[in-house]
Amino acid sequence: LRSRHMSVDAAAALERIRAAGLLRTQGLIGGKWIDAYDGKTIEVENPATGEILANVSCMGSRETSDAIASAHTTFYSWSKLTASERSKALRKWYDLIISNKEELALLMTLEQGKPIKEALGEVNYGASFIEYFAEEAKRIYGDIIPPTLSDRRLLVLKQPVGVVGAITPWNFPLAMITRKVGPALACGCTVVVKPSEFTPLTALAAADLALQAGIPAGALNVVMGNAPEIGDALLQSTQVRKITFTGSTAVGKKLMAGSADTVKKVSLELGGNAPCIVFDDADIDVAIKGSLAAKFRNSGQTCVCANRILVQEGIYEKFASAFIKAVQSLQVGNGLEESTSQGPLINEAAVQKVEKFIKDATSKGAHIMLGGKRHSLGMTFYEPTVVGNVSNDMLLFREEAFGPVAPLVPFKTEEDAIHMANDTNAGLAAYIFTKSIPRSWRVSEALEYGLVGVNEGLISTEVAPFGGVKQSGLGREGSKYGVDEYLELKYICMGNLN
Ligand code: NAD
Repeated sequence: LRSRHMSVDAAAALERIRAAGLLRTQGLIGGKWIDAYDGKTIEVENPATGEILANVSCMGSRETSDAIASAHTTFYSWSKLTASERSKALRKWYDLIISNKEELALLMTLEQGKPIKEALGEVNYGASFIEYFAEEAKRIYGDIIPPTLSDRRLLVLKQPVGVVGAITPWNFPLAMITRKVGPALACGCTVVVKPSEFTPLTALAAADLALQAGIPAGALNVVMGNAPEIGDALLQSTQVRKITFTGSTAVGKKLMAGSADTVKKVSLELGGNAPCIVFDDADIDVAIKGSLAAKFRNSGQTCVCANRILVQEGIYEKFASAFIKAVQSLQVGNGLEESTSQGPLINEAAVQKVEKFIKDATSKGAHIMLGGKRHSLGMTFYEPTVVGNVSNDMLLFREEAFGPVAPLVPFKTEEDAIHMANDTNAGLAAYIFTKSIPRSWRVSEALEYGLVGVNEGLISTEVAPFGGVKQSGLGREGSKYGVDEYLELKYICMGNLN
């Protein structure tokens, strides 16, 4: 594995991205590529090799204020365009992303580590939000309400909220941006995006393509660097009318509290703790395939990852041995290799978090059935891991490990499974594997989650609403519901019409 890892030519991939004009390192403010005002930069590292890929501008409150001002000015022109004009620009952006998808995927794998096949999948998925909302832009309209007095007409308009601050994580460097920016621009809003400091390059490349597509200067701005400073500048501005955030629950709570002062609209996509319930009447092959995909995609660094695999007692041993066999087939390596199915974790802190969770579990009686340690490839590679007999007093049960660790938890009855599944403050995704239709309905309805996969582990799509309940978030992204987050209702009463 080590020699395969060393043979990968990251430099050639980077050269290809540069040749396509997509290796951007400056922030984007008012349609201009800008250095940090004090000239500071931060390094972007390839997690698979430790190589420095680029030095990008490290911005703070001054650059953010200028980006907000630019978004605010542009709002008045962008929101006045017709829906079909905005739709055409979004459609062009989609086309450009698709025609540059290989370069974008390479860039994503280089800075984030995910296998190239997954990166290509994310480019398609990320682009799908732009295509979808390019169409949805044309379907945003209000209502006429039957009046209570005959000389009146009551109208409801849907209008864009204004400038949006969008703060996004590193685990899906493109899709978490387009899932916000697509609907925001479709509604007529303008946006200041702050991508994760670990994965700014994909965000900047996508913004470059947006400019090329004719999305006007100032409609989409990108600033990155000092996260709390940029966050505070967005929160304090009275011109920013909406914060949309995807990331950790802790930061989401801070942003929600910080939005109170200026009473901004807030939507949050936060951490999950997905249960994956395998009942004894499940098709075992379907359950293995589904839970493997739900757990190990993106090295387990996904908010909808099957964080706890609850298996009914009668099939626990049988499931565990088949699942371990499937996990053993995962190929750990540099994501640029076609054969790789599990890349590195994002950074050293992520590995240390996994190590802490494993230590906690084993000290409380869980046992390692597979893996359980760093991979011999070094860096931040971690072995695909299966942990048996996990219980609800362990960190592995209570919180997101955000790594390639599958905790198996035995349960007795359907009621026990529902109770265990809901025994968490999170409520994003859940999965059920059963052949019984009545049971799949009963359990789906009883689960306190925003999305439920029945006999399927990969369920996200641009046409369905994505979002969590409880402390997993507020609001929904994607689908026809996704535009509501960027719209205000205005009631107009026309009187004395007789
Ligand atoms: P994070 O909260 O550390 O960072 C997310 C973003 O917030 C980054 O851009 C970061 O720079 C920024 N940030 C950090 N501190 C800030 C502050 N004080 N003010 C303003 N911005 C700040 O999360 P992460 O580690 O990048 O992402 C992983 C987390 O995201 C996991 O918990 C995962 O479950 C969650 N996530 C949720 C969804 C969802 O749709 N619900 C999707 C992907 C990831």
